[in-house]
Amino acid sequence: MGSRVINPHEELKDIIGHLRNLMVMDREIGLDPPKLSPSSLDYLDTRPAHLSSLEDLRDFVGDCKRCKLCHGRTHLVFGEGSAKARLVFVGEGPGREEDLAGRPFVGEAGRLLSKIIENGMGLKREEVYICNVVKCRPPQNRDPEEDEIEACLPFLKQQLRIISPEVICTLGRIPAQALLSREFRITRQRGQWYSFLDISVMPTYHPAYLLRNPAAKREVWADAQEIMRTMGLEVKRHV
Ligand code: URA
Ligand code: SF4
Repeated sequence: MGSRVINPHEELKDIIGHLRNLMVMDREIGLDPPKLSPSSLDYLDTRPAHLSSLEDLRDFVGDCKRCKLCHGRTHLVFGEGSAKARLVFVGEGPGREEDLAGRPFVGEAGRLLSKIIENGMGLKREEVYICNVVKCRPPQNRDPEEDEIEACLPFLKQQLRIISPEVICTLGRIPAQALLSREFRITRQRGQWYSFLDISVMPTYHPAYLLRNPAAKREVWADAQEIMRTMGLEVKRHV
């Protein structure tokens, strides 16, 4: 603090203002903050910050402990890519390599996803955005549980509102169920258009599934072509 004179009244006002910002941001992204009456909010009289950039949202998520997945993580994996992406890929959650690197889809499934994006669709990984339903690795790569998805989903929703892409491509069952319907059946319902936050959604198989079932690449290729047609991108005849 150096030689700054501390005025307790000003200092407390600063702290209360900061807390108020956090509560306003909680509400903005759909978390349920502690209640304050409108008159108390007026009394505090500080301007709310807005989570209108990915950087602000990342700062807000901080060292999140909103669900039990925080205990086992090395790094929180927020997501990466272009804030102006026309296409966002949503996976399930970080695996071991992602947890260590702090980046999404960098393991074996990630390398296959990069090939689909770059060789299949002719896009660069940096021009799309890649993230997950839960930002912290579930232990032993188990499926994320309902309470974990519910705790983390406001962050994904706000990422999607900020980026506002033309298309969301969900990878595998978990993100399709989280964004579309708990009843979603990936084998029967992939490859058709759905909508989330007024954004077109194309659910396809997870690249990890393609590593075990290479024959399913044909369907993922058809889904990728459908996305490209919708985005007005050139569809190649052969990969
Ligand atoms: N699988 C996922 O669903 N997400 C990742 O980031 C990596 C693997
Ligand atoms: Fe927070 Fe999401 Fe990590 Fe849970 S998974 S601790 S809600 S960032």
